[in-house]
Amino acid sequence: MKALRTLSVTSELPAELEGLRTLAYNLRWTWNAETRDLFEALDPRAYEESNRNPVVQLGMVPARRYSEVAADPKFRSALEDCLADLDTYMTSERWFQKEVPAAPAIAYFSMEFGITPTLPIYSGGLGILAGDHLKSASDLGVDLIGVGLLYQWGYFSQSLNREGWQQENYKQNVTEDLAVVPVTDADGDQVCVNVTFPGERIITIALWKAQVGRISLLLLDTNVEGNDEGARQITDRLYGGDHFHRIEQEIVLGIGGVRAVERFAELEGRRERDVFHLNEGHAGFLGLERIGQLMGKGLSFDAALTKTRAGSVFTTHTPVPAGIDRFDAGQLRHFLDADGNGISRLVPNLPVEAALALGVEDGGQIFNMAHMGFRLSQRSNGVAKLHGETSRRMFKDLYPGFDEAEVPITSITNGVHRRTWISRPMDALYKSVFGDIDLSARSDWSQLGTLSDKALLDVRNTLRANLVERAREDVRRSWVRRGAHPGELGWVDSVLDPNVLTIGFARRVSTYKRLTLMLSQPERLREILLNEERPVQIVVAGKAHPADYPGKEFMQRLVQFADDHGVRHRIVFLADYDIRMAQYLVSGSDVWLNNPIRPEEASGTSGMKVALNGGLTFSTSDGWWDEMATDDAGWTIETVDIEDRAERDRLEAESLYNILENRIVPLFYDRDESGVPAKWLQMVRNSLVEIAPKVTATRMVRDYVEQLYAPASQSVALFANDEGLSHEFAEYKQRLAQGWGGVSVRDVEDSVNGDVLAVSASVELGEIHADDVQVQLVVGSANEDGELEDPITVAMTQGVDGRYAAEHPLETLGSVGYTVRAVPSHRVLAHTAELGLVHVAQ
Ligand SMILES: *Cc1c(COP(=O)(O)O)cnc(C)c1O
Repeated sequence: MKALRTLSVTSELPAELEGLRTLAYNLRWTWNAETRDLFEALDPRAYEESNRNPVVQLGMVPARRYSEVAADPKFRSALEDCLADLDTYMTSERWFQKEVPAAPAIAYFSMEFGITPTLPIYSGGLGILAGDHLKSASDLGVDLIGVGLLYQWGYFSQSLNREGWQQENYKQNVTEDLAVVPVTDADGDQVCVNVTFPGERIITIALWKAQVGRISLLLLDTNVEGNDEGARQITDRLYGGDHFHRIEQEIVLGIGGVRAVERFAELEGRRERDVFHLNEGHAGFLGLERIGQLMGKGLSFDAALTKTRAGSVFTTHTPVPAGIDRFDAGQLRHFLDADGNGISRLVPNLPVEAALALGVEDGGQIFNMAHMGFRLSQRSNGVAKLHGETSRRMFKDLYPGFDEAEVPITSITNGVHRRTWISRPMDALYKSVFGDIDLSARSDWSQLGTLSDKALLDVRNTLRANLVERAREDVRRSWVRRGAHPGELGWVDSVLDPNVLTIGFARRVSTYKRLTLMLSQPERLREILLNEERPVQIVVAGKAHPADYPGKEFMQRLVQFADDHGVRHRIVFLADYDIRMAQYLVSGSDVWLNNPIRPEEASGTSGMKVALNGGLTFSTSDGWWDEMATDDAGWTIETVDIEDRAERDRLEAESLYNILENRIVPLFYDRDESGVPAKWLQMVRNSLVEIAPKVTATRMVRDYVEQLYAPASQSVALFANDEGLSHEFAEYKQRLAQGWGGVSVRDVEDSVNGDVLAVSASVELGEIHADDVQVQLVVGSANEDGELEDPITVAMTQGVDGRYAAEHPLETLGSVGYTVRAVPSHRVLAHTAELGLVHVAQ
C-alpha cells in the first residue's frame, strides 16, 4: 500500500540527557569503548541503523526510549561516568604539559583525516595516519590544531560485479549527520575566511570544527551560499578532478587554512601558532601565505622566507616519484599572478616569480610541490628510516655538493593509535599486566612478556573466531550485491575456519604492493590452502583507485581465484575495506602479509596494528619493517634486487612460499598435548615486547615534538627575540650568493703523529668574512673509488698564521681518507647542507 503522506519524525533529546550530545560531538568516543557501550545501550537498534554514528543516532531514538533511560539509574550513572571521564581527559595535565618546556604551538595541515568512518574525509593510509596523529597528540596533551577540508562526497565504497570487477559508489556527506559544528563568532554567525581567485572572484570558505579529544580539527568548506557554482565545487571530493581542481583545493587548504587557523586561535583565545606542519606536499601553499603576511609587515621576501622556514616542518610520504604533486607552472602563475604585474593578488604582497622559484623544475615548466615543501621548511622528514634514506637520495639534487647522508631530511617512523586499533580482548590483556594506566608516554612494555601461554592463546583464538564470523557476514553481503540469491549462499556458513592459521592481506591495491604475488604459483598456493593436516586460510581486502586500471585487473585476478569452488572456503576477498573492517582484520589475523617492492613502501601502518594485537609480521624488508625486522618476532621475505621485474617477482614469491611452507605453517601447528603452540606464542610475546611499543603513534608524536616541533619553535623564538635577525640572515645569504665563487681551499697538508692525523689548509675567502664560514676536516674510511664512507666532520680553527688546522685520532685500520671543505656558518642554520653551498678542496 502506498502512503498517503510521509513525515519525517525526529525526536528531541531531553534536557537531562544533554550530556549525550557532548559525548557524541567529541570524537574521543572513537577510542573510548565505554562511551560506545553507552550509545549502544541507549538504543541498540538505532545504534546499528545509524551505522554507529552517535550524532545520527540521537535523532533516531524514540522519545519513549529517552524517557526510559532518563529514569534508569544505571544508565544515568554510566552517562555521568563517561562525562566525568571525558572532563578529566580534557583538563588534566599530560605528557606535553609535564615534559615539554617552552611548548610549541602547532598547526597540522593535511588533505585527509581518517578518524572514523562516520566522518568520511579520507581515502586510506595517509588520512588514517593523520587521524592517528591527532588522536595521539590529544592523548599526550600536545597544543595542536588540525586543518583539513570538509568534502561534500566521501571516498567511494566498493562492491564487485559478477566478474569480480570493482564498482564504485559515492555517498554524499550531510553536514548535520557529521560530528562537526560551525565555528561561530560572538554573534553566533559562522566564521568565514576568503581567498581571491583571478577575475576578482572572491571565494568564501566556511569554517567547521570537529573535536578529536583535546584537539580541534578545523574543516574548510566552499559549498556556501554566495559562492558561484564552480567555487562551491572546490571542496567536492578528495583527490577528485584534474590538476586545475587540485590546485584550487590546495590553495583553499594552504592559504585559506592559515587564515582560518589565525581566526580560530584568536576567537578561542589560543596562542598564535609558531609551528606549521605540512603533512605531505599538498599543504605547501600555507608557506606562501605566511611569507606574504610577513612581507605585509615590511619584511623582504628573503627575510620572510627565512622566518617562515624556521617554523615549518614538512613530511614527505612517498618514495615513488609518480606519487608527488607536480603541476603545470603556468596554471599556478594563473592563480598567483591574476593581474599579470608580478605581485600576487591571491597572496597580497607576494612576488610571484620568487614564489614560483621555490618549486619549479624542468626548465621552469613544472612546479613540484615536494620541492616547495623542502624549500619552505627548515625541518623535513620521511616516515621510516629506510624512507628517510630513499628521500635523501631522491632529493639530493636540491643540495648540490653534499653527500646523500648530509641531505637534511631526517626520518620519524610512522605509528598507529593504540586505543583505536587494539581489540577489546587484547586491551584487557594489557590491562591485566599494566593495570588501567595511560601507556601513551611509556616505551617499556616488557611486562607483556609475562603473559601466559593460556591467556594469549585464548585471546588469539577469540579474535580469530570473531574475524571468521565477521568475514562470513561480509562475504554474504558481497555476494548478494554481486547478484546471488540468498538461497544459493548456504556455503558461506562454512567459509573460513576459526581453528585454521589465518593470514591477512589488506591495503590499497597499487602495483608496487603486489597483491597478486601470492598467486605467482597458483597450484602451490592451492596446496598450501588445502593441506589436510595443516591448512592455511587467507583473507584479502583493498580498494583500487578508480582510475587505476591495472590495479583493478590485479584485484579481479585475485577475486576470480578466490571464487573457485575448490578454494573459496580458504581464501576470501572482502569488498569495501575501511576502518571498521581493518579493525577486525588486524586483530584476528595470525600473520599479516606485506610484500611491496623494496623500497617503494614509505612505511605502511597496517602491520603495526597487527603487532599491537599479537599478530606476527610476514613482510619484505621495506617500510617500517626494514628497521624492526627480527627473526624472533616475524619473517622477512628475501629481497632480490634485480632489474627484471618479472624475474624479481618470481624469485621473491619463491621466498614467500618457502617461508610459509617451511617455517610459518609448521610453527603454528607445532602443538603440545593440550594444543598449545608454545614456540609460536613466544614469538607473539617477543613481538609485543620488542615491536609493539615502537609502533604506537604516541611514540611517533613524541618524536615529532622532541625532534622537530620543539626545535622549530626554538628557531622561531630566535627571531622573536631579535627583531633584526631575519633581515641580517637575508643579508648574510646575499653576501654568500655574491661572494661564494671567490672561496677556495688550498695548500692542504697533513701529517700523522702516532695515531693522530693533523691537517692544515689555507682558505681564500675573498669578500666573505671568516665568521660567515666554517672550515671542516671531513675524515673517514675510504672505499676503492676513494669515496669517504660515513665520514666524521671536525671543525678546523684558524691559527695565528692564518691557516686552518685540526687533528683527529685514527681509530680504525685500513684505508683512511680525508678532505677539507668550507661551508656556511650562521646561528639560523639548522643543517650544514641547508643552503646547498660548499667548497671542497680540489
Ligand atoms: C591502516 C589502514 C591503511 C594503511 O595501511 P598500509 O599498511 O599503510 O597500506 C589503509 N586503509 C585502512 C582502512 C587502514 O585501516
